[in-house]
Amino acid sequence: MIPPIANNFVAGESAEEAIDHARSLNRKNIKAIVNLLGEHYHEPEPAAEDRDQYLDLVRAVDASGAEAVVSVKPSQIGIDVGEETFRENLRDIVSIADTRDVFVWVDMEDHETTDVTLDAYEDFAREYEGGVGVCLQSNLKRTSEDLERVKDVPGKIRLVKGAYDEPKDISYKKKSRVNERYRADLEYMFSEFEEQAGIGVGSHDQKMIDFAIELGEEYDRDYEFQMLMGVRDDEQERLAREGYEVYQYVPYGGKWFQYFYRRARERKENMLFALRAVLG
Ligand code: FAD
Repeated sequence: MIPPIANNFVAGESAEEAIDHARSLNRKNIKAIVNLLGEHYHEPEPAAEDRDQYLDLVRAVDASGAEAVVSVKPSQIGIDVGEETFRENLRDIVSIADTRDVFVWVDMEDHETTDVTLDAYEDFAREYEGGVGVCLQSNLKRTSEDLERVKDVPGKIRLVKGAYDEPKDISYKKKSRVNERYRADLEYMFSEFEEQAGIGVGSHDQKMIDFAIELGEEYDRDYEFQMLMGVRDDEQERLAREGYEVYQYVPYGGKWFQYFYRRARERKENMLFALRAVLG
């Protein structure tokens, strides 16, 4: 069982618990992006196991009727084993999701995986006509070109600042520079993306949230906000109450500890919150 401190950030160990959490979000007009925790498998067997868990998850999401989609990490379905393994596993997930009308996000990991991940996104998004999305990271210098490449792909792009510590020749290191790039990338998406290319704003930063709202009005475009479970839940609820489309990223699974530890370290507020929960 997941201890009470951790279950602010992780929905539980089972898909059922994640779907129950999605249902409780749905009652607040928030949709869920469900993610089975796991990453960096170097052998085909664990990658195939996680693929199978995703197939079950897609079926369970569909059967539940909850407003939920799924998100998968390339390294948990075999990108470190090889491109072919990754693409075969992703195809299995996307094709079953397509028959059940469940959207599939592909998270973006470190820069060594960007090309293979984007190639798979572009191929599957075109083949499955919009049922797939991918994350792009504003801290990478290449991202403005990648956005140009995907601007007419029938799918969705989640823009984030980037969670990986990348080499300085290929990435922006200063926070202010990353923020500047995030704004520029968002503006490009709102102004240049074709209608079939959807926009996901993956940030907890109020300045970016307010900027996206301005851009949405200026360009009269649909878009969605995406935030992590346990991070600015009050803002997620406020946006949903005001009628914006909001998705919460909901991780679950046996490998919850590492994820929880990262979230708790990330923010003093989270650490204090965790401590308060422990101390009663
Ligand atoms: P930051 O720049 O970290 O912070 C800006 C401001 O936001 C802070 O000053 C504060 O006011 C507010 N804030 C941020 N965090 C908190 C908090 N915990 N509590 C209270 N206020 C806070 N990265 C990837 O590299 N690949 C992915 O596939 C990926 N997927 C993601 C999916 C989702 C739905 C989200 C939300 C993020 C994802 N990320 C991913 C992580 C992302 O790259 C950032 O590392 C992370 O979101 C932090 O950046 P930020 O824009 O939220 O705000």
